[in-house]
Amino acid sequence: MQRASAQVCALATIMSATALWATQPTPVPVTMDSRLVRNGASFLHVANLGRETYQMSFSPGPSATLTFKTVTVMLEPGAVADLNLGQLPFTDGAQVLEVTSLVSSDFKPAGENQTVTGPSLYEVLVADPISIRKSSYEAQFLSRRLAIRGDSSPSKIDFGGGYISTRGIGALAFESAALDPNTRFTPIDLPSPVEMAAMKPKEMPDFSASGAGNGPTSKLLGSEQDQSGGSNQTGPYGTIEGKIFLKVPASGGGIAVNPAWGWTVRGWQQIGSAWMLIGSTWAKGDGSWSMDFFIPPFPNTKVRVEYQVANRFMQVQDKDGNVYTWGDNWTLTGPLTDIGSRSINLTKTGDAPGIDVIYQGATALWRRFRADGMNALRDEPIQITFPNTSLDTCPHVDSAGNPTPWSCSQSSDGKIWLASKHAKAGVVQHEIAHSIHSYYWDGSMPSGSGGQHSLTACFNPGLALTEGFADFMPYWVQFDRDNPGPHEASLGYNIETPTLNLCAGASNEVHVSATFWDVYDNHTDGSPSDTWYFTHHGAAVGIFLNNPGHDSMAEYWNVYSNILGPQWLIPVMNTFTLNTMFH
Ligand SMILES: [Zn+2]
Repeated sequence: MQRASAQVCALATIMSATALWATQPTPVPVTMDSRLVRNGASFLHVANLGRETYQMSFSPGPSATLTFKTVTVMLEPGAVADLNLGQLPFTDGAQVLEVTSLVSSDFKPAGENQTVTGPSLYEVLVADPISIRKSSYEAQFLSRRLAIRGDSSPSKIDFGGGYISTRGIGALAFESAALDPNTRFTPIDLPSPVEMAAMKPKEMPDFSASGAGNGPTSKLLGSEQDQSGGSNQTGPYGTIEGKIFLKVPASGGGIAVNPAWGWTVRGWQQIGSAWMLIGSTWAKGDGSWSMDFFIPPFPNTKVRVEYQVANRFMQVQDKDGNVYTWGDNWTLTGPLTDIGSRSINLTKTGDAPGIDVIYQGATALWRRFRADGMNALRDEPIQITFPNTSLDTCPHVDSAGNPTPWSCSQSSDGKIWLASKHAKAGVVQHEIAHSIHSYYWDGSMPSGSGGQHSLTACFNPGLALTEGFADFMPYWVQFDRDNPGPHEASLGYNIETPTLNLCAGASNEVHVSATFWDVYDNHTDGSPSDTWYFTHHGAAVGIFLNNPGHDSMAEYWNVYSNILGPQWLIPVMNTFTLNTMFH
């Protein structure tokens, strides 16, 4: 069979032309833009460029500072509409308008949850008393970074899992702020990222040993204890310690304070024009960190403590590859210097809004893999570039021919780009799924993978296999197998019963994702009935990753039933039939 590969190319000049990007699905062909005024009603201008009628609802997204009541509209083919958002609650300074939408079928009764996500909007604005100006994420947020000049003399840092980092000092850095040490927070129960990374490359359990089951059971994930390594001792050359927290938007409004679990903490000293790395560690689940210097610090020289959203699994960086960094300079007070509690401002109009959502979404996936005995790590940390503002890297071209920055994973090296509107756990987990898939399959993705695609249409079985697997992964990470109707926020459909105007068959990614879900879940539903599941929580994912060389989900009934034995052949086939895989 023909294999698509973006791995090796003799001519560097055609590399970009052959780069294979697995992308975020594109929404239904409805465009939207904002018509904003400071005093008076603002409007959302929407246009249906497609050939179907869409019942749509538009709501403020979780990153929005500008809230409004959900607006619903029926859009016939070719229709345009100006939706009245009312007076938006502007205050002077940076503001965020985030609009998300859901599409439901125009002929299904309401309340059936038959939806998929529609288009979304993320706009950074500046308000003054009389006007509104459209700005950008870079101009309002990233320009707050200070340049840290000078070469680095990086020592090697073992990130675990066979990867040694030699990254220099963060050359563009935000500053952290003091935090009241009595601020309440919820600890994160994970060991250090080095311990998390302690698995063999592509490590997987033996799925055939655990077999399959019928009927409801649920295996809960065990919780893990943070290794409290704080020994109250100082290193031979001295120690610096503190606590680092993230200020983030709380789900019900307001601000939450979370430990910066798993972030890299490094210590530097500037000697002449060069920065010397003198220590490194990781923030723990209670936000604490303690760094023993591995060389004697130079006297009368400040120590720069920097925090980076980076570890063995992934790192978040700007378009020029600068890992997002916060840092401050400190005077040592003796063998042990305690700098106290610090915070990083990741609120909606803070320093780099959204990167905590990206990091938490990625960490949840990593944690889920590890809890199931499966290794999610590539050879190097996955580089996540955010926000993607390029119209050359995997743009989405709407049906009017206009490109906008989009989100994707590159199969050759697993690098990810995320558009500013895609700082969502589900999108991150979708793209990381592509990066892990391409790693396990040695860069050789199913035939036909890559290119633009949507949730509702049919494309080809290879593309639908690639994308349907990536669509399933956020559900697998976020929902237990006994959930009767999981509805993931960024994909917007009920994966147990996705019936909204979907093209049938193994060329439709939602039907592929629903097949994966039925392999995972323990519900008995449908006709023919889905009655079985793999006893192992990770089997639906791990068996797929371990069995490359297929170009259609329809071929996996055979893979699954071969692992389980002949007594499971009919139940497995029924599940694939239920999900239109043999259509
Ligand atoms: Zn994708």
